[in-house]
Amino acid sequence: MERYDLIVIGSGPAGEKGAAQAAYFGKRVAVVEREPYPGGAGTNTGTVPSKTLRETALYFSGLSQHGLYGVDYQVKSELTVKDLMYREQEVVRSLRQVITENIARHKIEYVQGHAAFEDPHTVRVAIEGQPDRLLQADVILIATGSVPTRPKDVPFADTRVHDSDEILELERLPRSLAVVGAGVIGCEYTTIFGALGIKVTLIDGRDRLLGFLDGEMADQLRLQMGFLGIDLRLKENVARYVPEAFGVRLELQSGGSLVVDQVLVAAGRVANVQTLAIERAGLAVNKRGLLAVNERYQTSVRHIYAAGDVIGFPALASTSMEQARVAMVHAFDLPKYKTQVAPVFPLAVYTIPEIAMAGETEESCRQNKIDYCVGRGFYRTNARGQIVGDLSGEIKLVFRYPDKRLLGVHVIGEIAAELVHIGLIALQTECTIDMFVNTVFNYPSLSDAYKYAAYDGLGAVQRREAATR
Ligand SMILES: Cc1cc2nc3c(=O)[nH]c(=O)nc-3n(C[C@H](O)[C@H](O)[C@H](O)COP(=O)(O)OP(=O)(O)OC[C@H]3O[C@@H](n4cnc5c(N)ncnc54)[C@H](O)[C@@H]3O)c2cc1C
Repeated sequence: MERYDLIVIGSGPAGEKGAAQAAYFGKRVAVVEREPYPGGAGTNTGTVPSKTLRETALYFSGLSQHGLYGVDYQVKSELTVKDLMYREQEVVRSLRQVITENIARHKIEYVQGHAAFEDPHTVRVAIEGQPDRLLQADVILIATGSVPTRPKDVPFADTRVHDSDEILELERLPRSLAVVGAGVIGCEYTTIFGALGIKVTLIDGRDRLLGFLDGEMADQLRLQMGFLGIDLRLKENVARYVPEAFGVRLELQSGGSLVVDQVLVAAGRVANVQTLAIERAGLAVNKRGLLAVNERYQTSVRHIYAAGDVIGFPALASTSMEQARVAMVHAFDLPKYKTQVAPVFPLAVYTIPEIAMAGETEESCRQNKIDYCVGRGFYRTNARGQIVGDLSGEIKLVFRYPDKRLLGVHVIGEIAAELVHIGLIALQTECTIDMFVNTVFNYPSLSDAYKYAAYDGLGAVQRREAATR
């Protein structure tokens, strides 16, 4: 029996950062990972590959340079899967190395094998070609993430039908693609393939895109998808998938049908605990198939913690890392510099165009009966926006009336996922929009659009006051 202070199951964003946090403070840590490489969905099948493919699509499509140099937007002819995947594989390889080095630097023992509970303090690791190892620890962190949901009626055995993991193993580029499910992953891949000039049909039963976004941003995304030639079918469901010789026929619930070359089913994700024998640790999943935790990320068994996708919402790499760090601060009573995950966190949707947000939307303000105003700063009236040729980008501030306290920030366009952090910090520090008015921003810079969004907001306040006088 090998003893540790901490065993971490899984080496994705939650596992890696939780392990490093405890090891940094001198704990003896083992990380168990069943895949041949560390990094989980964050590095290998989810976040990093999809974001790299987005950059690749922008590069090969010439879309970001569209019209800038008087040349027409044209996808490189004869683009192959090898071209598309080349950089993705390079980036994934490098980041696996970065994680391996981080684990080694923290003197964490990395065990490659499949972990399952033996009892509440013991984990059995099955290692191919070797005897099982039994590891024991005072604290265990479950960071086993999630896997794509695979609805039973979808013929995944057909090589033309993919889930979001398999789409990275394409044998050839689709001539046409149906994406079923317009969540974040579905929308991101839709615009990536759309930018490559592939005919994409996006199908979803809901009546709008990405319900958590501010409605204006969701509408803007819909418009931009139209410019990419995407056939968007909302309030529509697939009744039946019929593989045929020359394509896959999707029979739609509304009655019609369409035949596409390939299909991506992005139907959500499910917690990855099926083979972990959690019952031997005295644990069970909740009704939604997730591990329930308290505000310290402790499961119902006091010394077993869980973080990341395995506990559900918001199921992001960014929050997974923070949850795991916070869990370890509580588990080992580490110096209390980080006792909770920041209550306001950013969300980014790496579609083309990119969208990011933090805090309240107009819709959530109305729902919560918060009196608010908005201010908008447009990339088209911003010097850097003109220089980079993004004329549809926008920063939108949602703030409380009448005290101008910032409530939400929404960005669509070039580097939205970066720009949103300026608004996020303002939200965290409870600023009013005057903060943007009183800040000097670099010129030319997209960040400067914050100032103009704030000026626009001040105008909205004035108009409001004039109307009530
Ligand atoms: C296509 C896609 C795009 C995404 N884009 C973004 C994005 O832009 N931004 C963002 O913040 N998030 C994004 N996400 C979400 C993000 O990838 C996840 O939230 C994050 O990876 C969760 O981290 P985790 O550590 O909880 O789990 P994972 O990354 O899933 O890691 C879990 C690890 O545990 C291992 N494991 C499981 N069971 C066992 C076992 N029994 N024994 C040993 N090892 C085991 C797995 O092999 C895996 O390596 C995206 C996800 C997908 C699928």
